[in-house]
Amino acid sequence: MSHYGDHEATDDPLQTLRHSTAHLLAAAVTELYPDAKYGIGPAVEDGFYYDFQFSKPISESDLPAIESRMRRLAQADIPFVKEVVSRDQAIDEFRKRGQDFKLELIADKVEGDEVSLYRTGDFLDLCRGPHVRSTKELKAFKLLRVAGAYWRGDEKKPQLTRIYGTAWMTPRELDDYMKFLEEAEKRDHKKLGKELKIFALDERVGLGQVIWLPNGATIRRELERWIVDEELRRGYRHVITPHLAKLDLYKQSGHWQLYHDTMYPPIHFEDGEELELRPMNCPHHIIVYGQELHSYRDLPVRIAELGQNYRLEKSGELMGMIRVRSFNLNDAHIFCKPNQVISEVRGAIELANHFMKVLGVEDYSYRLSVRDEVKTKWSGTDEEWETAEAMLKEALESLNLPYKIGVGDAAFYGPKIDFQVRDAHRREFTNNTVQVDYQLPKKFELEYVAEDGSRRTPVLVHRGAFGAFERMTAYLIEQYAGAFPTWLHPVQIVVIPITDAQHEYAHLVAERLRGLRLRVEVDDRSEKMQRKIRDWQAQKVPYMAIVGPREAEEEHVNIRDRAGKQVDSTLESFASMVATEVAERRR
Ligand SMILES: [Zn+2]
Ligand SMILES: [Zn+2]
Repeated sequence: MSHYGDHEATDDPLQTLRHSTAHLLAAAVTELYPDAKYGIGPAVEDGFYYDFQFSKPISESDLPAIESRMRRLAQADIPFVKEVVSRDQAIDEFRKRGQDFKLELIADKVEGDEVSLYRTGDFLDLCRGPHVRSTKELKAFKLLRVAGAYWRGDEKKPQLTRIYGTAWMTPRELDDYMKFLEEAEKRDHKKLGKELKIFALDERVGLGQVIWLPNGATIRRELERWIVDEELRRGYRHVITPHLAKLDLYKQSGHWQLYHDTMYPPIHFEDGEELELRPMNCPHHIIVYGQELHSYRDLPVRIAELGQNYRLEKSGELMGMIRVRSFNLNDAHIFCKPNQVISEVRGAIELANHFMKVLGVEDYSYRLSVRDEVKTKWSGTDEEWETAEAMLKEALESLNLPYKIGVGDAAFYGPKIDFQVRDAHRREFTNNTVQVDYQLPKKFELEYVAEDGSRRTPVLVHRGAFGAFERMTAYLIEQYAGAFPTWLHPVQIVVIPITDAQHEYAHLVAERLRGLRLRVEVDDRSEKMQRKIRDWQAQKVPYMAIVGPREAEEEHVNIRDRAGKQVDSTLESFASMVATEVAERRR
């Protein structure tokens, strides 16, 4: 399944079907919009897309007409025919059709004189295949949405319209998938994040800059306290370092040379100083380590920070809290002796697994990311790379953790273990990593005094265990569809007096609960009880404590939980039940 310039060809029948449906889409589009130019149209996870340049922009409201044309072509039973022609003939065909993008691909991607084309009726594509035999095999597809995409992913090239669709072997599978999408849509963190007042994005502040509203800030503060406590227990020392550093620092580390495209432009001062918003925390923590001369007895030195980082993601790729231009990372750098690396890596993996378990993150896997054959991309000797890889492997294997290998996914300074998480939309992302690095300690001439009095270079383990707060919070919103575990919920308990006569008691209940550091509100609005219950249910608040005359008299509460279950309890035992649930961070 491949256009020239796309992914590797595969024989997976579903991929073939999806890629064939992309051709069908392009065939329908070129019939309906004869002057549309088509770019590329690969199969992707769950479906396919095709990129077009339209003379007049189209929108999602145009999709039904395109889709019905696709259906008509599918029913017409048109064969997919492969034609191998000479380069000149191919150029001729696409020039006749005014398909400049294809001409560019032939110029850049096709080697030799033979060009493989696929014809479906009048539609012709530059493609190696394979394809289904006939359009009639395409009977379960749907167009989903349009998006902008630069030709060949290059911002300097024209922006095209990408039409996404999904395709399946049977209408039944398509149906299931559409239901899954609908469910995922309901959980979408952008939608719920707004409804539950967790975060805002405001162009007056800047694209991709997350504003944590009080509810979101509460969730984040709970996460931060928990993370810091867990790290303290494991011997980490926390620092607070500036969000800025001199550009030279990133030149020395090598980050600037490799990542300047995604770093903010430097701020120039009149006195000649050039400052950079930091894209990562490593150089700052290296400076922290270098503040004193360490002896082997001090090692490992574990320096941690909830560090704010800045990266210039492309505006088209920004998404809610998931792809942002500024984020806060639970980060740490462990400076250790070579014989401590494996146990430090193990400790980092175990901490990350602990975080995942408490948060209820279950769908994730481990990837050992190593370098590829392109030697120039990676700094350090073969021996260092091999040693580091072997240590990461040993750490994973000693914990009996299965892992896959990601060739070419390493950091430039060393191999790493990536935690690959799948979210409610089944999107896979790297949430956190553990990396072994011999290079930065050398570049910054870090030292420790060894047992024999000699000066040695420590090994640096870069470690994320929780990930970025923005991304993880988005994940949690979708995972729980807003019904956060009690310890994380912005409002844990709402006290609702049945009549005005119980206002005083309601406030007393709230005070008692707040004394246990619980987050409590009293709803003494003059609304009907049913209305109040509905409102708080919409906020997915874990507990409502309803108090009437009898409750006030006996110091009781009538508890109504999120599932609608109601029980009567003494105030005392309710308070201690919730406090315990929170202290244990139960799900
Ligand atoms: Zn094709
Ligand atoms: Zn680092």
